[in-house]
Amino acid sequence: LGRRINGALTDLTRAPTLDEKAFDGMLREIANALAEADVNIKLVANLRKTIKTTVKFSELPPSANKKRIIQKAVFDALVDIVNPHQKPFEPRKGKSNVIMFVGLQGAGKTTTCTKLARWYQARGFRTCLVCADTFRAGAFDQLKQNAIKAKIPYYGSLTQTDPVVVARDGVEKFKKEKFEIIIVDTSGRHQQENALFAEMVEIQSAVQPHQTVMVLDASIGQAAEAQSRAFKETADFGAIIITKTDGAAAGGGAISAVAATHTPIVFIGTGEHLLDLEKFNPESFVSKLLGMGDMQGLVEHVQSLKLDQKDTMKNITEGKFSVRDMRDQLQNIMKMGPLSKMAGMIPGLSGMMQGMDDADGQSKLKRMIYICDSMTVKELDSDGKCFVEQPTRMVRVARGSGTSVREVEELLTQQRMMGNMAKKMKGGLAGMQKAQQQV
Ligand code: GDP
Ligand code: MG
Repeated sequence: LGRRINGALTDLTRAPTLDEKAFDGMLREIANALAEADVNIKLVANLRKTIKTTVKFSELPPSANKKRIIQKAVFDALVDIVNPHQKPFEPRKGKSNVIMFVGLQGAGKTTTCTKLARWYQARGFRTCLVCADTFRAGAFDQLKQNAIKAKIPYYGSLTQTDPVVVARDGVEKFKKEKFEIIIVDTSGRHQQENALFAEMVEIQSAVQPHQTVMVLDASIGQAAEAQSRAFKETADFGAIIITKTDGAAAGGGAISAVAATHTPIVFIGTGEHLLDLEKFNPESFVSKLLGMGDMQGLVEHVQSLKLDQKDTMKNITEGKFSVRDMRDQLQNIMKMGPLSKMAGMIPGLSGMMQGMDDADGQSKLKRMIYICDSMTVKELDSDGKCFVEQPTRMVRVARGSGTSVREVEELLTQQRMMGNMAKKMKGGLAGMQKAQQQV
């Protein structure tokens, strides 16, 4: 979509005579691109009118950067639609915040539940999951696997078939245990059946969620409007999460859903991995849609991560860098999300990175973390020398993590290098601290 709109704008600036006719043609081209990107037809028509009135083409001075002005008008009009114009739900620390998920089967509820739980967990909330999907066989198992991987407490039942009972029991249990974020996953159906809606309403009144989130698949396209409207009418929701924005769908459906329900998008799913969840930002979303890059999003993203550096910094000041420090640093890099996605937020780089994926880099990082996770606590907190003294330890760790001895060695080499650096810095830092204390 971005390329097409940019193309239309470029055509306009290249046209031999920049007249009203060329401008109209370009508006038509942009409108077509938006409609094809699943933005609701009526919305597109309104948008076209808005742009035409905000950009008074005939009044633009000849020297004006027309491409810039029109691009900004398109950008502003789209941002205005997805901008919630209201404060998002903020869970309160020290309280039990219940968040319930609704949406059609396959929308990505179960996957997104765990992503969101991890997101809050990484930001210091005590988080847990409740599986109230008793409809689909294996639903509880799926949530359980995800939860175990993310180390998040979960609740569900293999014998209780009433989702309302499971939801109520799970939420009650976790409330008693003072969990701060309790996320309730529910079942979906292929269609918007009455049974589904009745079930949703019952669960809603049983668990009294502080927020209900509708999960919407980005590839739903033009159907997004009707679907979100139907959900809104029965099980009112206060937020939308759009999943699979990494797919082929252009994301116009998301814009239509917001416009139809006046409900903010809070997060977007950007892949199948646990970390593929981004806070929704209207400007970022639209600039990505239009292929304009997103520096602000990148900065906010990195700032929003509470990277855990405390213990490592303390160790370094003492001239130490354990295997665990190495692991924490790897985890920090992972938290930032796939590098190609970061690159996608940087103007200029986004084009260059197109079509490239860094699955390799990501999986390498993951393997290194697996290696650390297969070590004993003692080994993790060591300086790594025990592996040199007893190389069989490396064989054990390689086997336990499903990697090779070579990879374990590689990780330990890296850690040793960091350790040496820490040692060298010790004098300097200690000296600096002493100097500070004397002041
Ligand atoms: P549910 O039926 O609503 O619970 O949907 P699931 O959570 O089981 O997800 C259905 C499928 O969509 C799974 O294969 C997920 O891996 C996939 N999925 C979910 N979110 C995303 C996303 O953001 N990107 C991609 N590429 N796949 C996703
Ligand atoms: Mg599910």
